[in-house]
Amino acid sequence: MDLQLPDTVRRLAAGETFRFACHPGVACFTECCRELELALTPYDVLRLRRCLGLSADQFLDRYVVVEKEAAEPLPRLYLAMVDDGRASCPFVSPTGCTVYSDRPGACRIYPVGRAARLTAAGGCQALHVLLREPHCLGFAGSTSFSMAEWFADQELAAYNEANDQVMTILQHARIRSGMLLSAGQIERFLLALYDLDRFRVLVAGNEFPAAILLSDQERQVIATDDAMLLSFGIRWLRHELFGEITQVV
Ligand code: SF4
Ligand code: SF4
Repeated sequence: MDLQLPDTVRRLAAGETFRFACHPGVACFTECCRELELALTPYDVLRLRRCLGLSADQFLDRYVVVEKEAAEPLPRLYLAMVDDGRASCPFVSPTGCTVYSDRPGACRIYPVGRAARLTAAGGCQALHVLLREPHCLGFAGSTSFSMAEWFADQELAAYNEANDQVMTILQHARIRSGMLLSAGQIERFLLALYDLDRFRVLVAGNEFPAAILLSDQERQVIATDDAMLLSFGIRWLRHELFGEITQVV
């Protein structure tokens, strides 16, 4: 992957280390939780709404802005910032992040950036960069991390795994070649990826035509397991949007 990178961003090699520490003692503490555009992945929504004890539709109503550009086939979801003159994150407090254990992947991975793409063989290839922005004083920290150590420290594995699965839809060859989606297909995209409570009810119903995609064992697991339900939702969407039948896992 060849990218033109700004001065504040550079490629991070696999074994390379960097020093970083973000804590309440840094002068910039929580400054990066304001005036930001925070795109939410399906797994971010799953974790946040569970942390807040909200149903999926309650979370979407209160905290999410859905944007659909005419030139883009699929909508994007963003965290709705507070209208306080600083566009603050709704979860920031003077003592830090109030949803820290379930904060979005973008908040965890910073100051590393990850760009992933599907390979021709259907795998995932990821490129990592280090963002060294002037306002961030975390680089004065003394703790050294390799990329793998940073990902482990920030508990990113489940986020990356779910995001890579979603990528099989977002970067599907038909989407990349300009496939036009109907209003019904966009509705199903939002339902299966972001509105898991309603999707679970649909899947449990007798009318749900999923026998070909859903084993009895999986049906039992997704009755209570949100991550597995999301994983199934991705597979179901690939069938709904692209006519693909992927293997039961
Ligand atoms: S979710 Fe937490 S870490 Fe992320 S921007 Fe909001 S307050 Fe900051
Ligand atoms: S700007 Fe950097 S050091 Fe400051 S709070 Fe944000 S991540 Fe932490």
